[in-house]
Amino acid sequence: MSTNKKPRVLLVEDEGAQREVLTYNLEAEGFEVIVAVTGDDALLLVAEEEPDLILLDWMLPGVSGIEVCRQVKARPETRSIPIIMLSARSEELDRVRGLETGADDYIIKPYSVAELMARLRTQLRRTRPASLGERLVWQDILLDSAEHRVWRSGQQVNLGPTEFRLLTTLMEKPGRVWSRDQLLDRVWGRDIYVDTRTVDVHVGRLRKALMRDGGVDPVRTVRGAGYSLG
Ligand code: CA
Repeated sequence: MSTNKKPRVLLVEDEGAQREVLTYNLEAEGFEVIVAVTGDDALLLVAEEEPDLILLDWMLPGVSGIEVCRQVKARPETRSIPIIMLSARSEELDRVRGLETGADDYIIKPYSVAELMARLRTQLRRTRPASLGERLVWQDILLDSAEHRVWRSGQQVNLGPTEFRLLTTLMEKPGRVWSRDQLLDRVWGRDIYVDTRTVDVHVGRLRKALMRDGGVDPVRTVRGAGYSLG
């Protein structure tokens, strides 16, 4: 059991039976599933929930899957979320490709669950490697998300579970500036209330642990914005 939060998948599918089967399989594979039935709901949920990946049906009533894809990829804050488009026929798929929607991958229905999961993992390996148990490296820091261990310059660093999740989040996107609220969502989860000052406390502990054997402070405080790694 990983202490990292489960990767969050937004599933956009208007057909109830498809939705149920996919939700069941995704949850069985260890993903947290957020469901949208229409394109409008999907756009709302992308903004509110910041999912790690979107599984998007092409044929939706109202705002189409293509339009959802276009809008997600047009916004700088959501552009990096991988989108896998689901389509009923290969001719549709050719059209989707031709429209240059910016989707990261395409799958034709019916597909095997194993194939879908493999494609999903390929996308997540790129954007959320720690959620799949990969090792992360940044400068002299090595984080093994499967073994829950961290080393700096070859020396093992002891971190509490919260500091470990905090470092994981920072190491997945070096250079990204995280606001305190974004860190609360990612590290603590949005279901519990935690004061934003708690973030500062744990960043302080993380810094102390990482600098115990010397070395520069790897965490940058960005005034009025939050924190980033490097
Ligand atoms: Ca559909």
